[in-house]
This record gives sequence, structure tokens and C-alpha cells, in this order.
Amino acid sequence: MVSAADIDALLPQTQCRRCGYDGCAAYAEAIASGEADINRCPPGGDATVQQLAELTAATARPIAAECGTAWPPKVAFIREAECIGCTRCIQACPVDAIVGAAKQMHTVIADQCTGCELCVPVCPVDCIDMPPAGTGVGQPHWPPQTTQDAERAASAREHFQARQKRQHRDQRSRSNRRGNRAEQAQKKQTIAAAMARARAKRGRQE
Ligand code: SF4
Ligand code: SF4
Ligand code: SF4
Repeated sequence: MVSAADIDALLPQTQCRRCGYDGCAAYAEAIASGEADINRCPPGGDATVQQLAELTAATARPIAAECGTAWPPKVAFIREAECIGCTRCIQACPVDAIVGAAKQMHTVIADQCTGCELCVPVCPVDCIDMPPAGTGVGQPHWPPQTTQDAERAASAREHFQARQKRQHRDQRSRSNRRGNRAEQAQKKQTIAAAMARARAKRGRQE
């Protein structure tokens, strides 16, 4: 059986979710388990479908219409003067390619941006453009034509994984905090009940 990691190695790491999964690794898992067909990655295009067909012995088919079409490399550009610093684009970016703080203008780290477009629809003031990417920025050519393309995909994978780890850690600490609050509330209730019992006992003795 072909491993999800081998399949993931053939995917462009744009992390755009156009395959219908939460990133390239999740789509790779779905192919490996037989849940998903191999023709759902528009950034990878027909050449990637062909490589996946050779790896998995599945039949190559045109990219599924519901996933959209391949696009030329693009890179996000924020019109900073119009940015209101809402941070929604930072939360949407799968590879941490946007920097900024609340109520401050935001900017894109161009050589980290994969051109996934996930930041565009969340911007409330529509100040993110997606111009064609120059050399070395935006989504890499895929399948890779140069070692730089392969390195940029590997870097996008690392940024995506680092973000996922951070999100899991934040989620754990939020649920720990919720658990602590519930524990404290339970303690308060227990103490209140014990005090009520003690008062009732005293009342009976007087
Ligand atoms: S590049 Fe986009 S469509 Fe292709 S596998 Fe990754 S997340 Fe899915
Ligand atoms: S900045 Fe680039 S990588 Fe991040 S969400 Fe926007 S298009 Fe995607
Ligand atoms: S979503 Fe738009 S307005 Fe909000 S921080 Fe990002 S670029 Fe600025």
C-alpha cells in the first residue's frame, strides 16, 4: 500500500483546500485510504494527476470540475493604506505568510505565500489583490521544474505543520482552562453545600 507521505510528496503544498480537504496532507491521507480520487488538485494540474496515477496505480482522469481549474502562480498583496488591521487574513493563512497585529496594517511575506487565495474572501474591506507572482514567490511551479520549486514546497509544508501544531497547542490550553474553570466551579459548589449542611446542623442543635 502507498503511504500518505509518499502521496503528499507529490502534492504542491499550496494548502488551498480546493481538493475539499484541510490541506495537502489531509488530501494525501484520503487518497491513501481510498476515500478520495487522485484528480482533485488544480494547482498540481494534470501532470500531478499522472504522477499520482503512476504511484497509486489509479486511473488518471482530468481534474474534477468541482475543484476548479489550474491557475498561474500568484502572490497575495495587501493594499496597506486600506487595511483596518482586523487580523482575519492572518487567521485564514495556512502557512503564516501574513504579519501584523490587531488594529495595525498587515503585510504579506511574499516568498512564504503559496498563492492559495484563502485570505482574499475573509478581508472585510477587500484590500487583498492576487497579482501574478514573479520568480521565487507565490505558488511554485508544480510538478517542480527547479530545485527552488521543490524547496519552496517543502518550506510551505513546514510552515503549515508548524501552524497546525500551534493551533493544537492553543486548543489544548483553551480546553485545559475550561476544565480548570469547571473544576473551580465544582469546588465552590461542594464548599457551599458543606457550609449549608453545617448551618443546618447548627440550627437543629440550637
Ligand atoms: S494544493 Fe490545494 S488542492 Fe492541491 S492537495 Fe494541496 S490543498 Fe488540496
Ligand atoms: S497570504 Fe498567500 S498563502 Fe497566505 S492566505 Fe493569502 S494567498 Fe494564501
Ligand atoms: S483581512 Fe484585510 S483588513 Fe483585515 S488585517 Fe487582513 S488585509 Fe487588513
